[in-house]
Amino acid sequence: MQTIRSIKGMQAASRKLARQGKGIGLVPTMGYLHEGHLALIRRAKKAADVVVVSIFVNPAQFAPNEDFKRYPRDEKGDMRKIKSAGGDIVFIPRTNDIYPDDFQTYVTVEKLTKKLEGKSRPTHFRGVTTVVAKLFNIIRPDVAVFGMKDYQQAVVLRQMMRDLGYPIKFIVAPTVREKDGLAMSSRNRYFDDIGRWEAVCLYYALRTAREMVKGGVDDPKLVKREMTAVIRSNCPSAQVDYIAFTEFWTLTSVRKIDRNTVCSLAVRVHDVRLIDNMRLC
Ligand code: AMP
Repeated sequence: MQTIRSIKGMQAASRKLARQGKGIGLVPTMGYLHEGHLALIRRAKKAADVVVVSIFVNPAQFAPNEDFKRYPRDEKGDMRKIKSAGGDIVFIPRTNDIYPDDFQTYVTVEKLTKKLEGKSRPTHFRGVTTVVAKLFNIIRPDVAVFGMKDYQQAVVLRQMMRDLGYPIKFIVAPTVREKDGLAMSSRNRYFDDIGRWEAVCLYYALRTAREMVKGGVDDPKLVKREMTAVIRSNCPSAQVDYIAFTEFWTLTSVRKIDRNTVCSLAVRVHDVRLIDNMRLC
């Protein structure tokens, strides 16, 4: 496994692979890797000859009041995990190389980013699309793999790829969960025991929603009411930011839940903002 830290080094490695006719798969991450990330790497390995995993805690996608400074980092552990999952190249660019002092060009997806997460995190997706575009330009992957865990991010990035004409195959891989159902996330390490215990409320709410829909309920309002109650009973201090029912690729709110509907939610649990989502039928 190769570690590359400079943009020039990464560009040279990509050019060489392209000359050899090798397909490049990219898995962008912010590090502190868990099984969810490793599943993406394994998925990329199936679709490409060589898998590049980028590790970059992207300051542009954090608002000033968010956790950029304390975001967990573990480069050595990450390297070991990437190797075990079959990654070939780890690209770890320096912040100053991605965002030099006079940096001033951003990529913005206009409409999709105003919905759901965009309401509480208005500058977040601009940071995501900008850094992913930059990674695409440097690495020139043939395939890129993202997690359904960050549903809106996947939708926004797909839009960016279409709008800007990137010739990249776009794969969204399913969410990997802990045994109790909590979606794996680097941020789960912020919890103490009680917080971790109560964090499963998002999954319980989604599971309740799925059961209701299987039982014939298709009214988002009814399902939302029940989900809110489940969250309250499992985590009394939880603050629900949103519970939404949207059409998969457009993020348009639906009046009736059907197979193309994604239920997504954001909840603050013991001061950690968690997101999760599920298709309900
Ligand atoms: P992050 O390091 O949190 O920026 O995530 C990097 C990639 O891993 C994104 O495409 C995420 O959607 C994906 N990811 C994060 N958590 C999970 C999970 N539990 N299961 C599957 N993919 C995930």
